[in-house]
Amino acid sequence: MGKRKSKRKPPPKQKRIEALAATFPCPFCSHDRSCEVKIDRKANVGTIECRMCREAYSTSVHYLSEAVDVYNAWIDACEEQNRD
Ligand SMILES: [Zn+2]
Repeated sequence: MGKRKSKRKPPPKQKRIEALAATFPCPFCSHDRSCEVKIDRKANVGTIECRMCREAYSTSVHYLSEAVDVYNAWIDACEEQNRD
């Protein structure tokens, strides 16, 4: 009987990803880089909020989503609202 190697691998060390934050110009108050995106990778929710006018938006994200995707979703949502 040979030695059985445990099939359990240690969990891979995950790269520490600091809260993915990025700043974008605000479509509401036109401040440059006043909107900050935060992506909650556990909840799969991306949130963007403007520091200046406090406009905020959140959307569902997937694992490939990046800050800019949240921003683009916000812009799309704004345009849709402006359509009426
Ligand atoms: Zn703003």
